Amino acid sequence: MSATEEVIKPDFAGQQKHFIFNEDHDRLRESIGAFVEKELTPHAEEWEETTFPDSVIKRMGELGFLGLSMPEEYGGQGGDYYCNLVLAEEMSKSGSGGLAMGVAVHTDMAMPPIHLFGTEEQKQEWLVPAIKGEKILCLGITEPDAGSDVSGIKTRAVRDGDEYVINGSKTYITNGHRADVIVLVTKTDPDAGYDGFSLFLVPMDAPGVIREKKLEKLGMHASDTALLAFQDVRVPASAMLGQEGKGFFHIMWELQGERLIGAAGCVAGAQVCFDKTLEYAMERQAFGRQIGKFQVIRHKFAEMATKIEAARQMTYMTAWRFNNGEYPVREISMAKLYSARIAVEVADECIQIHGGAGYMKEYGSERVWRDMRLNRIGAGTDEIMLDVIGRSYGL
Ligand SMILES: Cc1cc2nc3c(=O)[nH]c(=O)nc-3n(C[C@H](O)[C@H](O)[C@H](O)COP(=O)(O)OP(=O)(O)OC[C@H]3O[C@@H](n4cnc5c(N)ncnc54)[C@H](O)[C@@H]3O)c2cc1C
Repeated sequence: MSATEEVIKPDFAGQQKHFIFNEDHDRLRESIGAFVEKELTPHAEEWEETTFPDSVIKRMGELGFLGLSMPEEYGGQGGDYYCNLVLAEEMSKSGSGGLAMGVAVHTDMAMPPIHLFGTEEQKQEWLVPAIKGEKILCLGITEPDAGSDVSGIKTRAVRDGDEYVINGSKTYITNGHRADVIVLVTKTDPDAGYDGFSLFLVPMDAPGVIREKKLEKLGMHASDTALLAFQDVRVPASAMLGQEGKGFFHIMWELQGERLIGAAGCVAGAQVCFDKTLEYAMERQAFGRQIGKFQVIRHKFAEMATKIEAARQMTYMTAWRFNNGEYPVREISMAKLYSARIAVEVADECIQIHGGAGYMKEYGSERVWRDMRLNRIGAGTDEIMLDVIGRSYGL
């Protein structure tokens, strides 16, 4: 057959390989995927009731999954930022948003500031054992009276000789009950505006740190969420993380990486929900045919697939820029906003396509919906993302 006679068929089954990933990433994906399938997914139901055990972090440390992009000298794997995307995506397949979030707080919220801003002593004390999974990390920004408006936090750190004395409270802190140390956002100079913030590494067993209560929530049940109080907590001046007065900017930097990882988790979570629902729509019969063959249902899948793909491409392209040293805050905000929104929309449509089964715990879509719903609030709400994007145009 001559070239002109060849029929070029659409390649729907083609491997959706993206240029940011190479063979090392593929191998990493395989090994994390195998671990998730064998050691995490079977426990997803149980951990909804009990929260996941600390031994998961320990095991992931042993397997080398906690410091994928951290330098080898601290026990990390020395990989790039894309390795963290792979981790976030594969963790979403565990069927437990709470577990994926607890691990992400450790690896992608609390760990990067210790790596970037920490002194050598701080890295040896906290980063090295965190990468091994021997110490668990959490991050404290939000307070009962200030969430979106980080500048409104009230937790104070006051210098007293060679020490700082910390007073205040933090809320909604993921890993707050299990953590060994908190990356704590405080004000050291309340009159200095954005230049009055400083971060501290506060051991959670320090006298005066009170883990007040485990908060009950809509979803993410496998994670623990804490209300914390700090009452005259004394830490040495050497516990300050990064530069004095630069804490606000340090934490804004941290939030960018966290938001992109959150976006990747949303896309992967939406994809899992889509795939399971597609299987269901192929099997479930109504009026003598598979429900997926009704045009209205087929179009729902088409809409969902298009949105998932758009969110994925936006996330990957933004990750590419971030990995290349750019600081694309506008696009990170867009990726976070869009991925979180479509993940909730997809989960909602998947519930609808399942009919009554969608409302049942057994089929999983309701949990994805409940878990994903957090992503429109945590790490910066939709409204804050829209504001960042709008302001980036000078408005
Ligand atoms: C399960 C869970 C886990 C979390 N984990 C952590 C954690 O580990 N560490 C941590 O520090 N925080 C954590 N958070 C906190 C989370 O980041 C905050 O809840 C979030 O940033 C919103 O803050 P807020 O709850 O105080 O809402 P608020 O700031 O009170 O906002 C209330 C509403 O007002 C809107 N709003 C506020 N300001 C504006 C504005 N300028 N323009 C338009 N609308 C606005 C918001 O979008 C929202 O709709 C967690 C939250 C949850 C629910």
